[in-house]
Formats: sequence, structure tokens, C-alpha cells
Amino acid sequence: MSEVIEMLIRRGFLWQSFEIYGGMAGFIDYGPLGNGLRRKLENLWREYFVVNERAVEIDTPTIGVEDIYIASGHATSFTDVAIECKKCGRVYRADHYIKEKLGIEADETVESVKEIIDSFGLKCECEGEFYEPKPLNLMFKTKIGPGRGKKGYLRPETAQGIFIAFKRIADYFRGCLPFGVAQIGRAYRNEISPRQGVIRLREFNQAELEFFVHPDERSHPGFSIYANDRVKLVDKNGREHNLTLKEAIEKRIIPNQILAYFMGKTRRFLIKAGIDDAKLRFRQHRDDERAHYASDCWDAEALTSYGWIEIVGIADRGDYDLCRHSKYSGEDLSVFVPFKEPVRVKRRKIFPKMNKIGPVFRQRAKRISELLSSVEAPLDVEYVELEIDGETLRVDREFFDIREVEEEIHGEKVFPHVIEPSFGLDRITFAVLEHSFDRDIIEGEERRVLRLKRCIAPVQVAVLPLLSKKNFEEKAREITVMLKNAGIFTEYDDSGSIGRRYRRFDEIGTPFCVTVDHQTLEDNTVTIRDRDTTRQIRIELTALVPALNELLATEKDISEFGVIFKE
Ligand code: AMP
Repeated sequence: MSEVIEMLIRRGFLWQSFEIYGGMAGFIDYGPLGNGLRRKLENLWREYFVVNERAVEIDTPTIGVEDIYIASGHATSFTDVAIECKKCGRVYRADHYIKEKLGIEADETVESVKEIIDSFGLKCECEGEFYEPKPLNLMFKTKIGPGRGKKGYLRPETAQGIFIAFKRIADYFRGCLPFGVAQIGRAYRNEISPRQGVIRLREFNQAELEFFVHPDERSHPGFSIYANDRVKLVDKNGREHNLTLKEAIEKRIIPNQILAYFMGKTRRFLIKAGIDDAKLRFRQHRDDERAHYASDCWDAEALTSYGWIEIVGIADRGDYDLCRHSKYSGEDLSVFVPFKEPVRVKRRKIFPKMNKIGPVFRQRAKRISELLSSVEAPLDVEYVELEIDGETLRVDREFFDIREVEEEIHGEKVFPHVIEPSFGLDRITFAVLEHSFDRDIIEGEERRVLRLKRCIAPVQVAVLPLLSKKNFEEKAREITVMLKNAGIFTEYDDSGSIGRRYRRFDEIGTPFCVTVDHQTLEDNTVTIRDRDTTRQIRIELTALVPALNELLATEKDISEFGVIFKE
């Protein structure tokens, strides 16, 4: 167990779930500190990707009916290739096992895995041979309702809840593109062999933004904000680049401004949250690696004790999801985009003959007539095929006329394209914790300090009475209440020597300690100690709340807020 993980468990950030029943790989509990930290990260994300975007946030169920996942392709394509040992029965995720044992990046296909196993004679850790590799679906199945019920799945991503509610959301925005829809919540994947502790979970937390744009749109008005930000890139052929986002677009490494905009914004968010820029890169998916819905995808990866791990995926999903859900649900999920000026066009149009259709098609006559009217008619068409209730129906020429009409067109229907930044909050939390973990020497003694950004520290201020005496303690408790009432995440602690208490709060990343000492009782001043420098200032109690609020919202030095009391 790494030192950081040992500390995270000991100090109550997180631990394995179901511990008293032996635990189960792929599940973690967030303890008081981990939960506080992740919630703060969520709020920071909201600030960046909802409040400061043309975006809204929604909340949809974590269980979905099977139809959703048939339409989205997850029921058939959301798979990893697995290999099972004939001798001990262990099942591994093939690409991970091959990477671990042979150091090779295997294509994520059954054929490629089989070829590698055969040519290297790869065996299980117990020396047993493997059965033929096969794809395993990662979704958790469930049944909704009693008796036979209805088949359902726990959602493997929050995104589908957004796509299937698209019509309502588009109405909310009155159809005006672009707009974003965000969702933060749990996602579930029955990972094959989650051996990477907190990195590969079976139940995890996502924050996703689906940003819907006109299909012809390639630019983003906010791109200039990030154009000169320098990023480390690894393209789909494995070549490394160190470029500004503007240069990456000019060199056609990143295909368009919208993707680049979200890469820039993602990078700034991650740095703000405490990811070390030197340990951050963007890696483009190889052609064989992309999810079934994506035409391009860039992962933000952080360097951790597990190596480079994906913490955010930024995918160009095109119109894949909206088209599929339109087709499978029968609901039109396109939006109407008005032209600047109406245009007059001649077109050949189908006119249904209701007197012929009615007697033959009866109840379906109205639907057939509607569908026929919406079909563009080429010359010499003898019949048209319509999709009705999941079947293809041939309607012959005797049931309709074709005439040329001139029409004024005011706009067009389009399926918006989607750019999706998808954040794994658990992995970001862990990477932030690892990147913040540090050691230094204070007064000849080594200390462990978590240099968390002030805005995401779970305990922002600790209030400490210098001595365990009634009047010191009463004053400190009073101050604790005052800070809590001001919305500051505050803890009171009176156990142990002051030095030990400072160390305890340094280890959990508390940026400031407020100490009640002898002078406090005389002149109503307290000291504020800065975690990173261990410097202290003395400040009037009346100025404490505004000073802390500003310190917590900025990176300012405490010396700006009072007289230095201790260097
Ligand atoms: P994806 O839809 O696979 O691109 O996943 C989006 C984000 O969710 C990734 O960037 C990860 O940070 C996170 N994620 C995906 N799978 C897992 C998992 N099994 N455990 C924890 N986080 C995950």
C-alpha cells in the first residue's frame, strides 16, 4: 500500500467498502474528509462547466430501461475483451494483463488478443492456459418491477439520461444552439478485474457535459481565452507534442476549436483543483481504442503512482446518440435552425392519396400519410419504404402523387453534434491527493503536508485553544461557531500539544489554523497560521471572517492581512 493511500485510510478520506464482510474490489466509501473534498471538487466543476457556460444541469435516474442501451449501442458494444484461466478460473481484462506481463499495447479486439496469446504463449499467473478470449459486457443488469418485470441496466455513464431528455431540454433553450447540459452522478461498470484500488471502480462518480452545437460549427467564441495555453499532447500515433492550443489546431493535431476550447478549459479546471501541470497531458485515442460512439477522443491523463491514468475523456460524439435515439424511439430529436433570410426552393413533393390509403391501411393510414408527406421525392419513384412500428413498409405509387412545388423555407432541421467532456471525479480526487502530498522539514523535524488548494480543502480552518483551560476553550468554541456561521468549513480541536495539532491539520490539508492564546483573552486578537509556510500573523477577531474568506477564495499571502507574528 502506498504511503498516500495509507494516510488516506488512516485519516478518514476513504476506505474499501463492505470492509467488515471482507470487502470487494471496485467499491470505496468516502469518509468525512474524502466526501468533503469530492463535494468541493463537484462545486468547482459546476462553476466552470455549468455556471460559466451556456449550460444547465439536470438529474436523471441511475437505472435505465433496456431500450435506452439497445439504442445507444451499449447493450452490444460496451465490452472489454476478457481471458479466463482454464485451471484456476481467474478472469482478466485482456489488454491490462498483456500490458502487465508483456509490456505490449494490445488492440482491444478478440483477434488481436488471441494472436498475442498464441504467439507469446501467454499463460495465467498460476501457469494455467486460457480459454478463447471473449468480449464481456460491462453493464450491470437489473430487473425493474416484480414478476417478469422489465429488463434494465444501471447506467454506465450519466450522458444517456441527457440524450433521451433532449427534446425537453431543447425546448427549454427554445432550440437555440449551442447549449450544454450537465449531469453529476453515479455511474456503474462491472469492470472485469479492478485491481487498481481507487482508480478502477465498479461504482463511480462522473461529471459530464454534453455540449450541443450546429453540425457545421467548428469554432468556439471562447477559444481565444485558451488559445495560447501550452499543453502536452500525445497524438493517436503516439507522437508527443508540446504546443499552444492554437498551434495544435494549425498543425491539425486537434481537429477543431470546440474540442480545443474544452481541452483548455479542462486543463485550467484541473490545475485550479490541484493537479500538477507537469504531471498532466492530453492523449488522443488510437483508432482501435475509441468508444463505439466517438469519432475523436482526447483523454486528460494524470501521472500517478499507477502510471498515467485517464481522469477526463473529451469525446466528439457527433450526432451518433441523437440519431440513434430518434431511430429507436420514433421521436424526432432534431432541432429546427432558422435561416437568416428565408429562401425559395422548388422541390418535388409527395401528396398522399387518402381515398386510396384509408381503406387499405386503416388505423395506420394517418401515420402513413404523415410520413409520406415528409419524404423528399426523387424523379420516377415507384414506391417508397417507410419505417413504422419497427417494420419497413412498402407503399406503392398508386397511393400517392408527386408534384413540383415552390416553397419558402425558413430554416432546416438538424441533428446537433455533441462534444462531451466527461470527468471521473474519483480519479481526479485521488490524483489531486497524490499531487498535493508532500514532505518537508520544519524546525528540524520531518512533516507530512497535503498542499491542497484552499478552495477544495475539506477542512478549511482549524480553531485551536493553545492550552486546555476553560477560558481558552470557551473562546475557541465561540470562534468556531462564528466561522461555521460564516459558511467556513471549520473544526475545533483541543487534544494534544499545539505542535501535534498543527501537524495533524497539515496532514489533512487544512490551509489555516486559528489559535487562541494568552493575548486573545487580553485584546481579542488571534493568530492565523499558514499551512504551507507555517508563518503566523496576528489579527483582530473582528477582521477574522473577512480575512479568511478572502484568503480561501484567493492565493494571497497571510502577511497581507495582519502583522507577522511568527516567521
Ligand atoms: P469514459 O466514458 O470511459 O470516457 O469515462 C469517463 C471518465 O470516467 C474517465 O475519464 C474516468 O475518469 C472515469 N471512469 C471511467 N471508468 C471508471 C472506473 N471504472 N472507475 C473510476 N472512474 C472511471
